[in-house]
Amino acid sequence: MELFWHRRDLRVADNVGLAAAAGAGGEDASGDADRGPAAPVFVFDPGVLDHASDVRIRRLLDGLAALRDDYRERGSDLLVARGDPETVLPELAAALDAERVVWNRDYSGLARERDAGVRRALDAVDVEREAHHDAVLHDPDAIRTNAGDPYSVYSYYWKKWTDRAKDDPAPTPGGEGLADADRLAEAADAITESDGTDATLADGGVDEGPVAAAGDLPTPADLGFAEPDADVGPAGTAAARERLDEFLDEAVFAYEAERDYPAEEATSRLSAFFKYGEIGVREAYAATEEAMVEAESDLRPEDAPEQVEEFQQQLAWREFYTQVLFHNPEVVAANYKEYEEGIDWRDDGEEIAAWKRGETGYPIVDAGMRQLREEAYMHNRVRMIVASFLTKDLLADWRHGYDHFRGHLADHDTANDNGGWQWAASTGTDAQPYFRIFNPMTQGERYDPDAEYITEYVPELRGVDADLIHEWHELSPTQRANAAPEYPSPIVDHSERREAALAMYKRARGED
Ligand code: FAD
Repeated sequence: MELFWHRRDLRVADNVGLAAAAGAGGEDASGDADRGPAAPVFVFDPGVLDHASDVRIRRLLDGLAALRDDYRERGSDLLVARGDPETVLPELAAALDAERVVWNRDYSGLARERDAGVRRALDAVDVEREAHHDAVLHDPDAIRTNAGDPYSVYSYYWKKWTDRAKDDPAPTPGGEGLADADRLAEAADAITESDGTDATLADGGVDEGPVAAAGDLPTPADLGFAEPDADVGPAGTAAARERLDEFLDEAVFAYEAERDYPAEEATSRLSAFFKYGEIGVREAYAATEEAMVEAESDLRPEDAPEQVEEFQQQLAWREFYTQVLFHNPEVVAANYKEYEEGIDWRDDGEEIAAWKRGETGYPIVDAGMRQLREEAYMHNRVRMIVASFLTKDLLADWRHGYDHFRGHLADHDTANDNGGWQWAASTGTDAQPYFRIFNPMTQGERYDPDAEYITEYVPELRGVDADLIHEWHELSPTQRANAAPEYPSPIVDHSERREAALAMYKRARGED
């Protein structure tokens, strides 16, 4: 028996570690052809829950429910435990007589610390352990400059990334490679009894020690969270595949041309699926290669290959930021690029609060912030606009924005979120130069010309002419009151703040 520990890889298909644990696909890297069956487990770790949010807990539980159903269809089940993995995993290994615990690597700093502790705990009880490379196509250590350093410029990274051969999807384990549901239920009972309690997960808080159950999922309240107001969208591998198929059927062939227009359904909306690992990146990439074959055929316009490649570039951005975080775990809280004098952020609490509420009086910014609240998601172009507005119009530290996104995005991913924020604040790798300051009105006009996206999320502006919406900052108070009495006036003057931002960055650079 092997124990497979799910973390950010809530899928059965194209899961490298699970395939190895279940002996799927014949001989694996360890040279062991006859492995398995694998007993899958997810552990609610208080150390991870400390950093979670209502939205992400809802999304996680939905993903786990879908994963459990995928196992049940195969005659197996998902063990669910709570407690510190250093304690829970050795106990579960003993209850199942498992020789080995297998997982996929997580490259972020906190996860690496946790995994080091688990390795020590398993070594202490002589249980083997094995970690696999799965989350990205190319290991964060695999792509380096000719001098051997990690890349900090995306375009060079992309060149190597795209030239490298990619692994095929990992084989999907069949029922025979997975532990039988009854055996898992017995093990869960054994560990619950040895724990001196007959509680199931649904009965208690998260700090009560190792408790396991087969297939019983807690509610958010059991874990100390509330149901979010936002609709977090569908979860699980089947939903991810459906979305990927639909996207690659048509939208991908116009991706580069349309991706910046938030009113269009022009992007894949796969980010939360990638975040929870509900679709494997090898499987997704292989599907884009099939789309590329179609793009290169006569069936599609001449520029179709560039459109598909632009989408592959986004998968590479995800891997680029994964390697930035891997090599620089401190960027979670610190600027990647330090300015000589440090940045003296203005940090006005009321302005930051208006930004969070989506009440800045800049329509595209407010639409984005409200989309975030309603859907736990925001379109990429709008993420860039609201991030630029917070840092360069409100002159607020990017960490306020990062924390807010972390609390509200279902797809929050430390590497991508941090990368996006530091890019916007001109403190990151390959960041927007400090003097590039988005004009929120021009951005709205260019990317949402008919104000369709804006009026979807800002009902106060429905029925107002798009031209007026895009000139909102230039209207007189009377004109605004006549057009949309409920919608706020701009809380800052963009031109003034632009000058103030330039001065702030120049001071930070020691040029003042
Ligand atoms: P698509 O355009 O369909 O792209 C496909 C996939 O590529 C995405 O699902 C994602 O996995 C990856 N991807 C796309 N753009 C980027 C990018 N710029 N950086 C890294 N990976 C990318 N993305 C997250 O996954 N989680 C975050 O927490 C996150 N926070 C962000 C914060 C800011 C301030 C900014 C500017 C961007 C952030 N992004 C984040 C990147 C990007 O906005 C989202 O990945 C994208 O909007 C998700 O929508 P999609 O799945 O339709 O993307």
